Amino acid sequence: MNVIIFGPPGSGKGTQSCMLSRKYGLNIIAAGDLLRAAVIANNIDIKVKNAIESGILVEDKFICDIIYKQIKLSANNFILDGFPRNLNQAKFLNKVLEEMNQVINYIVELQISDNLIIERIVNRFICLNCGNIYNFMYINECKKCGSKEIRQRYDDRNLSTVRKRIKEYKIQMEDLRKYYQDKILGINAEMSIAQVSEVMYAFFS
Ligand SMILES: [Zn+2]
Repeated sequence: MNVIIFGPPGSGKGTQSCMLSRKYGLNIIAAGDLLRAAVIANNIDIKVKNAIESGILVEDKFICDIIYKQIKLSANNFILDGFPRNLNQAKFLNKVLEEMNQVINYIVELQISDNLIIERIVNRFICLNCGNIYNFMYINECKKCGSKEIRQRYDDRNLSTVRKRIKEYKIQMEDLRKYYQDKILGINAEMSIAQVSEVMYAFFS
């Protein structure tokens, strides 16, 4: 079973992907994580590196190559998160899957108002020591490791960055909605985590 999950930052996409992955034994292919890993491994050119770090959408070819490799490794069992982001990428995905005799079985979009996104994101903190993430609350000491080195998540620090990401997301989804048409199931992501996953499980069964 192959799934695409769409959703703006703060929609709970990462959490829902993890739960789906566990329930159905799917590989998570998260474009953002793969790009960050490529930056850490330092095997990318400086232009792409700068683009990732400043939050600019990375050139299609680079990300398509990465995704292609992951799809091949995933044996017809994956969740795509953060890909495709535009029509080029969607068409690329379609072509690759055709070649492999695979299809996307389900597409979901987590939907949430701008105000709630911002509220969720500015209240997201990370422990610099162990990496634990805290949502929706301010903390001054990590409950997991006791470290006092807490800060707001780096790329979420700046409100104008968040607004920019929301705007980019809306623009990219306009095209993708037209491309996938009625295949996309919109889910109200303002509900609780458990309620959202219930709706998804019902859709998948
Ligand atoms: Zn910690």
